Amino acid sequence: MSTLQHVCSAPLARAVRSRARALSISSAVSTSSPAKQASSVDSRVLLGLSEQELQKLATDFGQQSYRGKQLHHLLYKTKAKDIQDFSHLPQAFRDGLQEAGWRVGRSPVHRVVASADGTVKILLMLEDGRLIETVGIPVEHQKGSFRLTACVSSQVGCPLRCAFCATGKGGYSRNLQPHEIVEQVLAIEEIFKHRVTNVVFMGMGEPMLNLKSVLDAHRCLNKDIEIGQRMMTISTVGVPNTIRKLASHKLQSTLAISLHAPNQELREKIVPSAKAYPLDALMADCQDYFHETGRRVSYEYTLLAGVNDGVEHAAELAAMLHGFCRGSHVNLIPFNPIEGSEFRRPYKKAVLAFAAALESRKVTVSVRQTRGLDASAACGQLRNEFQKKPLQLSTPARELGPLLT
Ligand code: SAH
Repeated sequence: MSTLQHVCSAPLARAVRSRARALSISSAVSTSSPAKQASSVDSRVLLGLSEQELQKLATDFGQQSYRGKQLHHLLYKTKAKDIQDFSHLPQAFRDGLQEAGWRVGRSPVHRVVASADGTVKILLMLEDGRLIETVGIPVEHQKGSFRLTACVSSQVGCPLRCAFCATGKGGYSRNLQPHEIVEQVLAIEEIFKHRVTNVVFMGMGEPMLNLKSVLDAHRCLNKDIEIGQRMMTISTVGVPNTIRKLASHKLQSTLAISLHAPNQELREKIVPSAKAYPLDALMADCQDYFHETGRRVSYEYTLLAGVNDGVEHAAELAAMLHGFCRGSHVNLIPFNPIEGSEFRRPYKKAVLAFAAALESRKVTVSVRQTRGLDASAACGQLRNEFQKKPLQLSTPARELGPLLT
């Protein structure tokens, strides 16, 4: 029996039901006016605001500041989705907020796909008709503890086009706003009927290209939704000048670097954006990050059969890491096949040999269990299934309409 079925069979049933009655796209698109596209973002969204900001908002509307506290509770504890559901607040205040154009900022769920191992992938339809993926990954430990990890997207698509990644192949549209990141966590909590314990910024997009929103969302997830900073991981392929910026915030979250190769030449083939950020410079920034924050950086390494998965690559990787820092941790991810890709998943034997070669050189290593293979699990795959046309900056929602069905 899958973990999800075991832990929360009702949510799974609901997930499957909502799959069957997924929203009609044409109606969803027809209600989103072109005026509300990404470029003309409406900032009157409650989700993502701090308690102080909500108190200020309440007093701006002639209410006492404790109404702001109530708003905070309704958004982050009750998790109400609509201003008219704020039944603790005076009707006049609710109407006033709505008339002024305020909204909660929760998007409709477009599709939910549950895999046999309990992983649930959710597609949210944003106000401008664009789709983003978010994934809920439940892990039940033998001792009875239960962890629910949210893998969140930071952009609609991704401009970086790493060779093996489905998101990059689908194109890039825009950055997500803070509330569009936060709501992914709330959508997962709603489906699982359980609080999210961990957040990884490993969904669609490159978090460091949208650092301001990622930091705002991180603040909200930590302070308002009360997910510990140490329970969150920000994953990046590396964007020049951003790791130092992140370090200056001295977060207690983990920085994960998507490395995928032990040298610059091979890395450029797998990660085209690496040309603009040589491995030496990236590793030096990681070293500084550790000194500044005291938090060890972890390294993600997607294993591609016959490309970067030889024991000689492991030996080179260990030497490279030891050259920069003591005690690095490497997370190995066997390639998750995507449509039309020339890459292959390595055999288990090769994965274990790679891990052993790192361990014997005193590099700690974990092998990420592939979750939800049957639910289009690789980053961006599900979105690509439903939003076939590659995203472009200028694609308006009304043009996407017929492509989404
Ligand atoms: N842009 C960020 C976050 C998104 S990708 C980054 O690169 O870190 C998050 C992780 O998923 C990366 O480590 C990436 O290598 C991995 N990933 C993406 N597609 C994959 C696939 N098809 N198989 C295995 N890992 C994949």
